[in-house]
Amino acid sequence: MAAVFQQGVARALSDPTLKLAIDRTTVTAERKRAAALADYPQFAAARERGTAIKDHVVANLDHYLDEFERNATASGAVVHWAADADEACRIVLGICRGAGARRVTRAKSMLGEEIGLPHALEEAGIERVETDLAEHIVQLAGETPSHIVWPALHKTREQVSALFKAAHRVPHEADTVEAMVESARRELRDRFLSAEVGISGANFLIADSGAVCTVTNEGNAELTTTPPRVHVVTAGIEKLVPSLAHAFAMLRLLVRSATGADLTQYTTFHCGPKRPGDRDGPEEFHIVLVDNGRSRMLRDAGLREMLRCIRCGACMNHCVVYRQIGGHAYGGTYPGPMGAVLTPALEGVDKARDLPHACTLNGRCQEVCPVGIPLPTLLRGWRDRSWKEGLVPRGVRSGLGLWRFAAERPWLYRLGTAAAVRAMRLFRRGGWIGRMPFAGAWTRYRDLPAPAGRTFMEQLRDRERGR
Ligand code: SF4
Repeated sequence: MAAVFQQGVARALSDPTLKLAIDRTTVTAERKRAAALADYPQFAAARERGTAIKDHVVANLDHYLDEFERNATASGAVVHWAADADEACRIVLGICRGAGARRVTRAKSMLGEEIGLPHALEEAGIERVETDLAEHIVQLAGETPSHIVWPALHKTREQVSALFKAAHRVPHEADTVEAMVESARRELRDRFLSAEVGISGANFLIADSGAVCTVTNEGNAELTTTPPRVHVVTAGIEKLVPSLAHAFAMLRLLVRSATGADLTQYTTFHCGPKRPGDRDGPEEFHIVLVDNGRSRMLRDAGLREMLRCIRCGACMNHCVVYRQIGGHAYGGTYPGPMGAVLTPALEGVDKARDLPHACTLNGRCQEVCPVGIPLPTLLRGWRDRSWKEGLVPRGVRSGLGLWRFAAERPWLYRLGTAAAVRAMRLFRRGGWIGRMPFAGAWTRYRDLPAPAGRTFMEQLRDRERGR
């Protein structure tokens, strides 16, 4: 993955259209979140409560999982347990085959991406129809989501327009957002009605009722889960909350942090299959509870806090690294700061060692996280582990060893920095360094400010001498 990450970064940094697309959405998201919080003076208290709810659930996960299974079963759902991604896909495919499904609709679910469900469905010869507008764009482009809330954030509306014109059966004419939305609606509507199975994720699983809560702005989750004969929910085991009141406490945090709105357009609680007398709803309702490394995180004091994550995306909207490279460069399902913590946990730090290092540790992600996850601390923990496991490249280890040797000998350190500053000045052009030996990784994409004047130690010495 190290090479994948570096190649992804190089590709992203040399793509000006990508930067434009990222800026358009993240700047708007940042502004809307700030406005929403300005109107919600109780945010700090809500954040503390949300953190306490998630910590309580994580500490008592076995209890709440049992309670959820009992209540969901009592309401007519069939609860399945999947230890890993393969087992989760096998269960979902088994349900689809049992329903004789040739076509399934899917509402956006990052857990589905995590377990590789889109690929598994295609391999099984089952047509997959993504119904979320952004996921529809991503599917047409043959790509993967680049953001957990806005999967097509990497595309400009001009690119989307071209994509729709090429792929839709009745292409739109006017290049307006309304015309594009109408075009997607035309394209998707009959597929909603002809799918045998609808697959959704879950924003929250409510233990005391066995209900599943989903939030969307397009109503596509409702159209995915109501008309088909079978509804399948795939959800991580950490999605639990004790009761409806707790779900509402979390929704206040989730929606404001994700989109800057007070509430999404659609907040739906799915509770069992269609009952006698109901006019619509699925005849079968399955819930697949997926572990896929979460129990391991629960046992690990250095990662447990990550199980609080409610997938709002605020950390990536405010991340200086994500805003330069976008989501695809990270290589895993989850990008940004939360992805840099989660991907090594899900795929192994040996495969994702670069991600925790692609961080300035400025702490902005922790500041905006609605459940106070100490992301910089967790990232430092991964750096520490990768050092202890000998995963840091030999060149970096030797460089740090040399630096440490010099840092422990102040006279040598002063000599070394004075020589380095003088050497850097040789490459200075108008206050900037555009090219310099050993600094190619930096100067390939940006100039390095030349050292200004004299070193700190030289200035300090002069000051002490009263100059
Ligand atoms: S880590 Fe925090 S800010 Fe990032 S997605 Fe999760 S809950 Fe949101």
